[in-house]
Amino acid sequence: MLFVISGPSGCGKSTLIKEVRRQTAGLGFSVSHTTRTPRPSEKDGVDYHFVPVAKFERMARAGKFLEWARVHGHLYGTSRAEVERRRPERDVVLDIDVQGARQVRRKVPEACFVFIMPPAAGELRRRLKKRGEDAPEALARRLRDARAEIRAYPEFDYVVVNDDLRKAVEELRTIVAAARLRPAARSAALRPILGSFTSRPADRPRTGKGRP
Ligand code: ADP
Ligand code: 5GP
Repeated sequence: MLFVISGPSGCGKSTLIKEVRRQTAGLGFSVSHTTRTPRPSEKDGVDYHFVPVAKFERMARAGKFLEWARVHGHLYGTSRAEVERRRPERDVVLDIDVQGARQVRRKVPEACFVFIMPPAAGELRRRLKKRGEDAPEALARRLRDARAEIRAYPEFDYVVVNDDLRKAVEELRTIVAAARLRPAARSAALRPILGSFTSRPADRPRTGKGRP
């Protein structure tokens, strides 16, 4: 199962994903490629694969990305290899923007799409400032772009308002638990049950009058 998490920059996606992964077994994280420069706290290969524009464009032309988009003036993409590499962890979480989510919806319609909504515009600004890792122009652009991004929420399967962090973590964990019970995610558990119903009648215990 693929979990697609979107929402404006600063709404708390990374924080929520980290906490839900800590509390939930079997959730791998797809590390995206990006052309933006690393923030002081970020590590190459952990938060992102930081690559030059030429390399990103080469990968895009070669069809290496499941989806990619230009976001806040930089290129971001989910490589197919990255998603495949995480498969043994059972489920994979993508933290991508709304344009990327639309591309994944077309290619993997059975994925679970979650929108993270900030509690208010003022609080989003406070969180971006508090994180303190974006230059003032980058911060202003992210706030401006948020107005358009939040309008995409009806396209998603679920919306979590990240006001109280503990509540939002609980809600996201509930969504993961529910999505894991969808028919498409249950084939391994259902196989033996379905198999037991396809055995020949002669194999079943006989009952009824006149039989020993
Ligand atoms: P995103 O990944 O969506 O860009 P982050 O996870 O980096 O956002 O969060 C942005 C900032 O907001 C961080 O400083 C984080 O600690 C803070 N934050 C996240 N969730 C909450 C919350 N529920 N209440 C208060 N601050 C939060
Ligand atoms: P940031 O620069 O704050 O880490 O991320 C900016 C935006 O890019 C966020 O909305 C984030 O979800 C999005 N993003 C991160 N990785 C990808 C990706 O691989 N593909 C797409 N389409 N968006 C991404």
